[in-house]
Amino acid sequence: MTQPQQKTNQRRSLSIFAMISGGAITIALLLAWHLVSQTTQDTVLSSTEAANQATTEIFASEVWHEIAPLLPSKDETTQQIRLNPYLLTIDNRVRLFSRHTDVVKVKIFDLRGLTVYSSEAKQIGEDKSQTAGFISAKSGKAFSELTFRASFKSFDGDVFDRNLVSSYVPVNRDGQLEGIAEIYTDRTREIADTENQLQELLRNVIPIFLLLFVALLLSFRHTDKMRSAHEQSLLDLALENSNARLAAEQANTTKSQFLATMSHEIRTPMNGVIGMAQLLLDTPLNDEQREFVRNISVSGESLLAIINDILDLSKIEAGKMDFEAAPFSLSSTLDAVTSVLTPRVREKAIALAVEFEDGLGGYYLGDGLRVRQVLLNLAGNAVKFTERGSVTVHISKKGTGLHFDVKDTGTGIPASGLARLFSSFSQVDASTTRRFGGTGLGLAISKRLVEGMGGAIGVDSVEGEGSRFWFDLPLTAVDAPHIDFSAVPEQVSEPASVPTPAHILLAEDHVVNQKLAMALLGRLGYTFDLAENGAAAVAAAAARPYALILMDMQMPEMDGLEATRQIRAQPGPNQTAYIIALTANAMQSDKDACKAAGMDDFLSKPFNRESLAQCIARGLAHAIPTPDSMADTSTPMALSQVSI
Ligand code: ADP
Repeated sequence: MTQPQQKTNQRRSLSIFAMISGGAITIALLLAWHLVSQTTQDTVLSSTEAANQATTEIFASEVWHEIAPLLPSKDETTQQIRLNPYLLTIDNRVRLFSRHTDVVKVKIFDLRGLTVYSSEAKQIGEDKSQTAGFISAKSGKAFSELTFRASFKSFDGDVFDRNLVSSYVPVNRDGQLEGIAEIYTDRTREIADTENQLQELLRNVIPIFLLLFVALLLSFRHTDKMRSAHEQSLLDLALENSNARLAAEQANTTKSQFLATMSHEIRTPMNGVIGMAQLLLDTPLNDEQREFVRNISVSGESLLAIINDILDLSKIEAGKMDFEAAPFSLSSTLDAVTSVLTPRVREKAIALAVEFEDGLGGYYLGDGLRVRQVLLNLAGNAVKFTERGSVTVHISKKGTGLHFDVKDTGTGIPASGLARLFSSFSQVDASTTRRFGGTGLGLAISKRLVEGMGGAIGVDSVEGEGSRFWFDLPLTAVDAPHIDFSAVPEQVSEPASVPTPAHILLAEDHVVNQKLAMALLGRLGYTFDLAENGAAAVAAAAARPYALILMDMQMPEMDGLEATRQIRAQPGPNQTAYIIALTANAMQSDKDACKAAGMDDFLSKPFNRESLAQCIARGLAHAIPTPDSMADTSTPMALSQVSI
């Protein structure tokens, strides 16, 4: 909402509030006025009625016996009543009686309702039998009403603007109803007094109400202003948030793209460094040279581990980490972890034990690779930071899932370091990097992985005594999946030792990586053709059949994805060939792109001889061989293709 719009709305709501509250206050005042004046009138009326009744009783006892014989008998006509010769006598007697009272007029009715006497002579003879007052008084109950008369004929002549109470009162003698008297009493002064008092009250109350009204308006305006300001600040905040979110999303995308590019750019030369170092190790070298080359290889591997860690973390942070839900063997997972750690454990002369509580080593539904990654990181740290004693991995049941416990008798962690342990790039002590190596990313990644799988992770540690890292995962046990061993040729497990002769198409543009791949293929006993880009690969694939195709993803002229799509699209000798992506792009999105383009497998750079050999053996086992592509037709066949 814009500023002027807000102002108009504020003004509108203020005037609506003013109208409603002003109206409510006025109605309240009018009601109060009406109520008070009504009550006062009722009080005047009832007290006057009581007084008039008493007056009538006195009139009955003192005067009635004198005038009753002078009144017309009960069957006389109106005319006869009007001509009653005693009217003057009666009038004198009544006036005499009234002189000492506040009565201003008297009428007397016979039991038929005819006016037999009135101090206003012209009313004599009138029939009042149907009036409410007469009917009530005839039944024995006095009846009074308060009326305002602009002019009125009283005992003392004409009077004006009077408030009169007239009471119909039964006149009884010896318990016998003999007539009805109507007695008028002037209450103008009492009513005027009350009205004056009321006006006085209003004069006092109205300013208070006005003050109240103004205070209400001011407080409403203040609250309304505050509410608008609050609304505006919420709107500003929401806008800021959405801008910040957009900026963060943009930054995240840029970061992911940057990481993907960097990862590719670093992996490509790393492939050359590690691969060439390995090739060099296979050549005759003196001891010093061998040591240098080993150092190159180990440094390369460390650098690669760091790149993988950074890539993992950024993938998790960008929400791009997908977790698999497939059966995996927990005991095999732990075997893999211990076999990686065994050389280091032996070197340090410490013990490494794995303990499963009753039969928990079976199959579970989940992401086995990620579980292995977390275990390897925790157990790897435990081994790294333990100089003597042992490292124990204990697996027990917890609720419907599993509890993993990795305990060591190592350096332990000071309490001050525990809090930031699971944050990125955090090491308890800066000297750790120099002494033990590491980036401080392992625990941050483990925490995110465990939480991503719906679990929790934690640590207890005593400095100088050792540490206990634990994590819980909601893993459900499943039956062992059925494995068709007849479809898995022996060469898959021992690929390097018994290579299958085959002619392979290698599509690779990077000169060092070409040399490396060619040397490795040659050493593995395969023959090959080289295509320097995607277009050359498509042309080569159209010319003759290959046992399989190794396809780099990023190449000039035509990339590996497009080349694969074209090979799959053309009817030719390699339309269904087994195509393995060879790429320094290690993101899941790249794997997905390869799969979508029609590739069968994925080997990320840098690869070594073993991983290349295994990948090729897998491809050869699943590809349908053609006589041309196979040097040896005894190669085992598999009829199904595997997917990435
Ligand atoms: P790094 O790659 O540095 O090991 P981690 O995130 O795995 O990164 O660990 C972060 C820090 O936590 C380590 O540098 C170390 O200081 C401390 N740490 C982790 N595990 C242990 C352990 N078992 N014993 C002692 N310190 C540990």
